[in-house]
Amino acid sequence: RFAPSPTGYLHIGGARTALFAWLWARKEQGQFILRIEDTDRERSTQASVDAILDGMKWLGLDHDEGPYYQTDRFDRYKIVVRQLLEEDKAYYCECSQERLQILRDELMAKGEKAKYDGHCQHKNLTAGVVRFRNPVEGNVVFSDLVKGEISVHNKELDDLIIARSDGTPTYNLTVVVDDHDMEIDCVIRGDDHINNTPRQINLYEALGWGLPAFAHLPMILGGDGARLSKRHGAVSVMAYRDAGFLPEALLNYLVRLGWSHGDQEVFTLDEMIEHFSLDGIGQSASAFNTEKLIWLNQHYIKTLPASEVAAHAKWHFETLNVDLTAGPALESVIAIQADRVKTLKELAEISTYFYQDYEAFDANAAKKHLRPVARGPLERVKDKLMALEEWNPESIQSAINATAEELEVGMGKVGMPLRVAATGGGNSPSLDVTLNLLSKEKVGERIDKALTFIANRENS
Ligand code: GLU
Repeated sequence: RFAPSPTGYLHIGGARTALFAWLWARKEQGQFILRIEDTDRERSTQASVDAILDGMKWLGLDHDEGPYYQTDRFDRYKIVVRQLLEEDKAYYCECSQERLQILRDELMAKGEKAKYDGHCQHKNLTAGVVRFRNPVEGNVVFSDLVKGEISVHNKELDDLIIARSDGTPTYNLTVVVDDHDMEIDCVIRGDDHINNTPRQINLYEALGWGLPAFAHLPMILGGDGARLSKRHGAVSVMAYRDAGFLPEALLNYLVRLGWSHGDQEVFTLDEMIEHFSLDGIGQSASAFNTEKLIWLNQHYIKTLPASEVAAHAKWHFETLNVDLTAGPALESVIAIQADRVKTLKELAEISTYFYQDYEAFDANAAKKHLRPVARGPLERVKDKLMALEEWNPESIQSAINATAEELEVGMGKVGMPLRVAATGGGNSPSLDVTLNLLSKEKVGERIDKALTFIANRENS
């Protein structure tokens, strides 16, 4: 299961946890469950739930069950809390915040760990917060599938609050109840939760429930070695979509953050599922490396079927208000632009001229290539192009070649003005394929536009 708390966007680290859990479920032909841990009503928002669902959908990490919402399950948690109270495995506590603060301060001053002293343990109270009676003897021992054997003495653990005074349950209680009720057999989560695990194990035992396996994933770090956070740049999954990354690239990047299979770097989703294993997860934190993500993105833009790239690129064109029905099939544009870009955002930005007129010529390109000397070549190549009976890369190329030959000038003297006329700038794929996609009509109109520009320039 993936069990995010909806208190922000879907974070890169959360997405990696989700991916590992999803891969494990797919690999083992199990069920992948999405559970929204929204019991913290002050910090949970619907916007965040939506952001998580959107992120998961965009990544293609589909769930077999859920999303379940913990706020729908309060009755169930209450039953469990009541049961623990009845069996004297939990008790009410009325210690005030002030008392607890003084206790903490005293312990800290003595250099001890701040923990509850059991003040209300034997008072038989009937209201307040509910605390779990943590065993006092023995060790909690478990074998983490990533970290190996972990042993914590019960002395280290205090009597955990499992319900607040208003009756609402806390994380450690709800997670145990849900993982049990939802029959989770493997809990994969970030190692920021590893200190909770012994407490949860004690709860499982008090309730007489079998334990799931645990796999705690090392954190993701920024380039400076600190835990990845906003100050390292984008950390939300959707920010990567907005920046023009393909989900395939992000998933491939994330799977290698902490997991390896030999020295293989590029994995299709099927290969990830085939090779994924919890054994392949490393013990140390991994650093986020944007360069590598960009490299993978370029790789996937170039190698995925153009139709798949198009499905994701479409959104970026729409964001730029480009009407894709006003030009060639996006797949054909991708076919000629794919190796010129690092992101889909860039792809959209450099491809708008296929769908709409550029607003103005690129100033440098126009200065250099739309000079009076370009008028002759442009007029002649326009005549030849407009006379073509068949509009295809070969016929377009021969019209350009013939123009250069007749005028006894180099290809660039024809090609560059033509490129600036057709696309508005000095960079484009080769002219034969570019003009071919632009259509004869548009090429004619745009050469006229360039000729007008040159005429104005001559007159001014
Ligand atoms: N809701 C917890 C979080 O977002 C995850 C708990 C878990 O996976 O056990 O950190």
